[in-house]
Amino acid sequence: MIKWSFSGLKQFLNCPRQYHEVKVLRNFVVQETEQIRYGKEVHRALEDYVRDGKPLPKNYRRFKKVVDALVKGKTEIDVEVEMALNFAREPCQFDSPEYWVRGIADLLMVEGDTAFVVDYKTGSAKYPDAKQLKLMALMTFAYKPQVQKVKGGLLFLLHDVFIPAEYHRKDIDALWASFDPDLFRLKQSTETDHWLPNPTPLCGWCPVNTCQFYKER
Ligand code: SF4
Repeated sequence: MIKWSFSGLKQFLNCPRQYHEVKVLRNFVVQETEQIRYGKEVHRALEDYVRDGKPLPKNYRRFKKVVDALVKGKTEIDVEVEMALNFAREPCQFDSPEYWVRGIADLLMVEGDTAFVVDYKTGSAKYPDAKQLKLMALMTFAYKPQVQKVKGGLLFLLHDVFIPAEYHRKDIDALWASFDPDLFRLKQSTETDHWLPNPTPLCGWCPVNTCQFYKER
């Protein structure tokens, strides 16, 4: 059985070889760039602010207004929510050997039969990928049986851009099916141990220096 997360699947689709070398074999580590560090700091600050009311550091106070608006009036609010499903698509422990897919929701709120899932982004808003919200919605449906509708959003904090999405419990099968082609490719690569390189401009940020397409920075 393959195990996956949205980010891992995305890495595989971008370059199977990089995914295998970095994620599976752990032969290389992706260097933490300034942008990655900043993203982690912002996530931590917002987590502390929403969960504990800890004041936002001066640099991040500009995000207060938009986050306040998101949580306003909500009673059930959780941050950095770890969710994992087994192959039967039932909730399991995040670190269970049985897990099939897992992910972390930055902000998850529930009001009656509606859940709100938000993912904070600190990068460019140019190419939003709402499919991540689809997976979060599916996991929310599994974890919260009373939820019939999930309203999701990618919040690009530095650009004041919010990409909304909405999912309904009645569409669960179709929503899962949308991942099938990509998961089939991952399964094929795993079973045949075939991990093709896929050179793109992103090679300039890749740590796999044994690849013929590696570019020194
Ligand atoms: S250098 Fe490019 S093609 Fe090679 S593994 Fe890295 S991303 Fe893939």
